[in-house]
Amino acid sequence: MSMLKVAVVGGSIGGLTAANVLRDAGCDVEVFERSTKLLSGFGTGIVVQPELVRYLLERTSTTLDDVSVPSSAMRYFDAATGHSKGEVRAGWRFTAYNAIYQKLLDAFDAGRYHLGKELVGIEPGIESSTVTFADGTEVTADLVVCADGGQSVARDRLLGTRTEYAGYVTWRGMVDECDVPPETWRFFQDAFTYGLLPDGHIIAYPIRQVSAKGQITDDVRINFQWYWNVDHGPALDRIMTANDGGRRPVSVHFAHLVPSSLADFHSRAADQLAPVFRELMIGAPEPFVTTVSDAEVPQMAFDRVALIGDAAFTPRPHAAAGSAKAAADAWSLADHLVDASGDVQRALGAWEPERLAVGRAYLAKVRAMAAALQHGGDFPPGSPEFRFGLPQLA
Ligand code: FAD
Repeated sequence: MSMLKVAVVGGSIGGLTAANVLRDAGCDVEVFERSTKLLSGFGTGIVVQPELVRYLLERTSTTLDDVSVPSSAMRYFDAATGHSKGEVRAGWRFTAYNAIYQKLLDAFDAGRYHLGKELVGIEPGIESSTVTFADGTEVTADLVVCADGGQSVARDRLLGTRTEYAGYVTWRGMVDECDVPPETWRFFQDAFTYGLLPDGHIIAYPIRQVSAKGQITDDVRINFQWYWNVDHGPALDRIMTANDGGRRPVSVHFAHLVPSSLADFHSRAADQLAPVFRELMIGAPEPFVTTVSDAEVPQMAFDRVALIGDAAFTPRPHAAAGSAKAAADAWSLADHLVDASGDVQRALGAWEPERLAVGRAYLAKVRAMAAALQHGGDFPPGSPEFRFGLPQLA
């Protein structure tokens, strides 16, 4: 296949996986990332799915132990009483956003990873496609891969589609051993824990800190999320208004929380949760809040432009495979490009229906999970329909 020029917009997990697999397939790839500094996932913990680590395991010397740690069980509790609802053995491994990001970045070429490049315009074309950045520069390529995430500018420009608020927010935080009583610390080790409530749910699991080289260390923290139903309108506006008076669209980080919002978080934890869950919430030094939203697209290919990962379908996080979906979109794109001997439009024509089917099925899965988890529905321990991961399509 002749050397295709590829511009990847967005240099997170989807963009970097695409950049690596397309480079390996013989393309001349450059990545354009909006952030002015290297990314950091606020220490976000991620459940390892095969698609997420496929590039690292198949094409680099990274081992699973370099980037992740095993966990033995999924445990289900009534978060109000602390009573167990069941436990299943589950061989999940946990990694951290920063570990995967750093290793994917190391596998790429730093000189071709351009920071401070914010996409503002996109022009798909039959012969080539062009992207424009906020600094006024333009790049024309044989293929543009847009991996600019859930708030994708590319998707907005091409389809006018934005994420829709799902009706709930998530309070997120991390605790160190010194932040909680020893029995609470021990309670959350070595397992993925669900705390179920009639009007929401909690998840908690241990994550490891990551070294500058992307290596998992022995330094453990407990990562949690507490999902609250909040009606669109004044209640949501209140929670998403920062201490500078601005209404944030996605997240209010700890430093910007208004005191009443933090007080509400603490008092709700004190009033509604059993001791272990309460101590986890109240012990978190820097909790922050994020809206949950999703997006669905009817199209992922536009002449010589492909939308991948969250820039196409943005899923709610409940099946822990959003980044795996992004990586799988990228692998499939490279495979189709090789199969089509570099004919971009033929490749995209075969790629798009396959990825639309995965995106739709995954979105349906996470919405079904949310319907149960946020409204006190049936969420049986170990239920196969609610198992983490991408759906298996025939
Ligand atoms: P993103 O990771 O969102 O990256 C988009 C990139 O594009 C960013 O680097 C951004 O800076 C850049 N960008 C944005 N706009 C522009 C622009 N205009 N121009 C240039 N660059 C731009 N997934 C899992 O697999 N497992 C989990 O356990 C998991 N837990 C999650 C928990 C929470 C609370 C959330 C919110 C998500 C979770 N996810 C999880 C989902 C996962 O984070 C996303 O699905 C995944 O990051 C998507 O990758 P992406 O590369 O498509 O987009």
